[in-house]
Amino acid sequence: MFELTSAGAGSSPLVPLIDRQGRRLDYLRLAVTDRCNLRCRYCMPAEGVPDAGHDAILRTGEMVRLAGLLCGHGIGRIRITGGEPLVRKGVVGLISELAALPTEPEILLTTNGLLLSENLAALQAAGLRRINLSLDSLDPAKWERITRRRGFDRVLNAIDAVLAAGLGLKINMVVLPGINDDELAAFADLTRQHPVTVRFIEAMGFDGSGRPMRTLSGDAIIAELETRYCLEPIPRAQGAVADEFVIPGHAGRIGVIRGHHRTFCSDCTRLRIDARGYLRTCLYGQPVVDLKAMVRAEANDEQILAAIRGALARRHANGFEAAALRLDSMASIGG
Ligand code: SAM
Ligand code: SF4
Repeated sequence: MFELTSAGAGSSPLVPLIDRQGRRLDYLRLAVTDRCNLRCRYCMPAEGVPDAGHDAILRTGEMVRLAGLLCGHGIGRIRITGGEPLVRKGVVGLISELAALPTEPEILLTTNGLLLSENLAALQAAGLRRINLSLDSLDPAKWERITRRRGFDRVLNAIDAVLAAGLGLKINMVVLPGINDDELAAFADLTRQHPVTVRFIEAMGFDGSGRPMRTLSGDAIIAELETRYCLEPIPRAQGAVADEFVIPGHAGRIGVIRGHHRTFCSDCTRLRIDARGYLRTCLYGQPVVDLKAMVRAEANDEQILAAIRGALARRHANGFEAAALRLDSMASIGG
C-alpha cells in the first residue's frame, strides 16, 4: 500500500489522506473563481457575491502545486468548479496542466454551460472527458427568472455539442419547490434518448442570505417521479453522493442528491479548495486551512501536508456536526 511514489511531493512515499473517521480522501473540488455570468437565485444574491479581487484568488501555478501535492497522496479526481469556471481566463491551460500531473488525475468540470460550446474542443484537447452541466428549467422564461440572466439557448446548444462530441454528461437540476418542481418528469424524459445522467439536487441554504431555503426532499422527488416512471435502483458506489436509478428502456440514468438531508456523509471522500484558496473538509463547514497564505509564505510541501492532515484529524463526522452558523454562497465554495 505504501510502495507507490508520490508525484507531487518529490520522492516521499504515498501516504494516503485519511480523516479521523477512517475515510480516505480521493477527490478534490477546486473552485477556480467566485465570479459568475449568472445569478442563480438559490446560489447568490442579485448583486452577486462581493468580488474577492485578483490577489485573493489562487494563481494557476499555485493551484497546480497544491493539486500536485494532493494527487501525490491519493487524490485521483479533480473537479474544476466555481463560480463559473469558464469565466476564468486560462482555465483551459490549468486543466491541461492538471491532466499532465505525473499521477494523471481525472479532470472533471462543472459549468452552467453558457461559455461551453466555444471552449469545448480546447477542453477536450486539454484532457477533459466528462462534464456536469447545471440546468434548472427547460422553459426559457423560467430559466431566466431563476438565473436572472439571458442565454438559455446557448446552454441547450452546449448540451447538443457535448453529446455530439461523445463526452460524458450529467445534468444537475436544483429542485426549487413551487418554481421548477413541475418539471421533474420533463427532465427525467431527457434520459429516454440520450446517455445522460439527470440528477435532482435537494436545494440547500447556500444562497449567501443566511436564510433557510425551501427544499423538496429526495424521497418526495422520487415519489413524484414514480407516479410516471418505474425507477430501478442502482447500487451506490463508495463515495458517490447520488442515489441512482434506471428507467427501463431509457438510455440514461436518474440521480437524486440529498444534499440538504446529508445522507452520504459516512463515506464522503471529498476535499475542497474554495475560491479564496482555503481548504474545506466539509461543504457545510467553515474554511479550515488558509492554503493560499501558506503557499505565499513559501511553506514547503511537508508543512502544507501537515496542515492538511491536521485538518483531517479534526474533520467532522457529517454535515450536521460541521454546519457553520451562516452558510456562504455556493459560488464561493464551489458546490
Ligand atoms: N457555475 C457552475 C454551475 O452552476 O454549474 C459551477 C459552480 S455551482 C456553485 C456548482 C453546483 O452547485 C451547481 O450544480 C449548482 O446548481 C449547485 N448549487 C448552487 N447553489 C446551490 C444550492 N443552494 N443548493 C443546491 N445546489 C446548489
Ligand atoms: Fe453561477 Fe453556478 Fe451559482 Fe448559478 S449555481 S450563480 S451558474 S455559480
